[in-house]
Amino acid sequence: MENKPATNIQELKQFGEFGGVNPSITDSSTFTFLEANTMIDTFSGNAPGCFLYSRHWNPSNKYLADALAAMEGTESAWVTGSGMAAITCAMLQLCKSGDHIISSVTIYGGTFAFLKNYLPKFNINVTFVNISDLESVKSAIRPNTKMIYTETMTNPLLQISDIPELAKISKKNNLKLVVDNTFCPMIVSPFKLGADIVVYSMTKFINGKNDCVAGAICASNEFINSLSDVNDGTAMLLGPVLDPLRSSSILKNLHTLHIRMKQHSKNAMYLANKFKENGLKVNYPGLPEHKGHKILKSMMNEEFGFGGIISIDMETPEKASKLMEMMQNEGVGYLAVSLGYFKTLFSNSGKSTSSEVPEDVQKEMGLSAGLIRFSVGLDNDIENTFQKIKKCLNRL
Ligand code: PLP
Repeated sequence: MENKPATNIQELKQFGEFGGVNPSITDSSTFTFLEANTMIDTFSGNAPGCFLYSRHWNPSNKYLADALAAMEGTESAWVTGSGMAAITCAMLQLCKSGDHIISSVTIYGGTFAFLKNYLPKFNINVTFVNISDLESVKSAIRPNTKMIYTETMTNPLLQISDIPELAKISKKNNLKLVVDNTFCPMIVSPFKLGADIVVYSMTKFINGKNDCVAGAICASNEFINSLSDVNDGTAMLLGPVLDPLRSSSILKNLHTLHIRMKQHSKNAMYLANKFKENGLKVNYPGLPEHKGHKILKSMMNEEFGFGGIISIDMETPEKASKLMEMMQNEGVGYLAVSLGYFKTLFSNSGKSTSSEVPEDVQKEMGLSAGLIRFSVGLDNDIENTFQKIKKCLNRL
């Protein structure tokens, strides 16, 4: 399949059984069978196309999963009730007691907490590395290592993972490379670059409306089938399934993702340049001086730009708080966590979505206490937005 994530979604012929242009919503938890034997076959996985029970599969979830698989170029996908459910199910499916994981140290705080505080309860241990230092990734490999985990563009430091190089290391050592692509849907296609499993928080850009929490796992048929196996599948047995009504609304939003990503990226690039011109300490992978700029350029589907996330370093949490309150009052956007929304959102990462990362680790990884992360919105007049931000900066 060609590397055209948006076109691949558009080319799917998904419609309702009565000719509705949107697939019908199946709001049923269970499904009837005309013959008892078909039910038995479905339980043992021998009745393709039959649905059994919605914790296992539901047609509405299948439509969304198929569209996500088309976007990523994977054989299959599974949709979950949150991004964390996607991440934790993928990890628990791959690892058992006694196994070891290598993870980027700069990742979303919730994932960091799961790896650091939760998995050791199951005797699964994690080595955190600087994911850009490929030698340290290699030297962290142990005989019991099962996977390398990273984010394409890390939260909140926007460090860029070199997916082709990490894929080489994992293939050579028989490991699985699991990549969270939440910040870069469409922009980067990690599976096509060699990742084995791609996970998403669909709560963010993919849905783009901040009206729900959802996640996805995109991978091979074999892996997705293993997740939903009735006997030992992590997704089937832990049960974090997405509600089919939500799947249906996310699918409709997915069809505008390509346009939204372009506009988020365009606006973020504009602000990054303006912040730079105004002497702010700005971090944006679209700027040529960003450490990961070249790697991202070599991996990206260029038409979608460098993404909608920027950060600026205000040095102290007090200064960051003051600026954020002023920006909210001025109508720049909302002081809120999360990202990928049509309005601009901003938060102080160290005190919010990375607060699970201990302060000494935050310092070590270069996360300033005064960092403001912006998820730049779809503003039609970004120049006007910048003027509002400038007014706040001048009053600081
Ligand atoms: N991955 C990344 C990169 C995130 O930023 C987040 C949430 O902020 C998650 C995963 C978790 O997603 P969710 O809140 O949908 O569980």
